[in-house]
Amino acid sequence: MSMGDITVLDTPALISWPLSELNGSMIVNSQITELEKFSPTRAQIIQSLGLIISEPSGDSILEVSKIAVETGDMAGISQTDLSLVALAYSKGAVLVTDDYRMQNLAERLEMEWRGVVMEGISETWEWELRCIGCGKLFDSPEKPSHKKRETEECVDCGSSLRLRKR
Ligand SMILES: [Zn+2]
Repeated sequence: MSMGDITVLDTPALISWPLSELNGSMIVNSQITELEKFSPTRAQIIQSLGLIISEPSGDSILEVSKIAVETGDMAGISQTDLSLVALAYSKGAVLVTDDYRMQNLAERLEMEWRGVVMEGISETWEWELRCIGCGKLFDSPEKPSHKKRETEECVDCGSSLRLRKR
C-alpha cells in the first residue's frame, strides 16, 4: 500500500486502529450502526473524525454479488461486508479487512487489499454449502441474508448446513 491510497475500512479497523490512522478513510453507514451496538463512545468519536461515509453504486453491488455467488462466499457474507467490498471496488480503493470471504472476493476482483491485523489469505478458494447429515449440496444464495445460511437446516433431513472448501 502506498501513501495517498484511499482505504475502505472493515469495522475491526474502526475498533482497533489508532484514531489518527482512520482520518480520510471510507466506510459505509451501516458500520456506524454496528459500532453503536459495540461501543457508543467509539461510534461518537468515529463520527466526529474525518472519515468519508459513503455507499457503493448499484452497479458495483451487482458485480460483487455475481462473483460472490460464483465463489460461494455469498452464503457467509453480511450486507455490510458486501457493501464494503463494492465500495472499494467502485472507488478503486484499498480494502482493509481480516475477513477471509471479503479478501477472497477482493482477490477475484483483482482489487488491492490488506489485513487489519492479520496477514490474510495467500490463495483464493470456492465454497460449497453442504448438509452435514445427508450431504446434499445447496445453491449459493443470490443475496446476503440476516440469517446466515450456515445456521439453516437441510430441507431433506433437518441437519445443519456447513460451508466447505469446494
Ligand atoms: Zn440433509
